[in-house]
Amino acid sequence: MSDIADDADKRIFDAVTNAVEAASRAANKPKQYFTDCNWCGDPTEDGAQWCSPDCRNDAWRYHTTLKRNGIKHE
Ligand SMILES: [Zn+2]
Repeated sequence: MSDIADDADKRIFDAVTNAVEAASRAANKPKQYFTDCNWCGDPTEDGAQWCSPDCRNDAWRYHTTLKRNGIKHE
């Protein structure tokens, strides 16, 4: 019979294992390169997704607002 401390240890171990595996999958995922800004369409450097922090912030604000309002998009 396991006690509460054993159950807690197992839950912590499982959570850490899942987090390490997720980080490993993310690290092994190939980097996606972009040639144009995903917000304004200007060319980007080094395969960046946005041409500037302003575009990144505007895109993030737009997408989070849509998500918060329950609007589905691409
Ligand atoms: Zn841009």
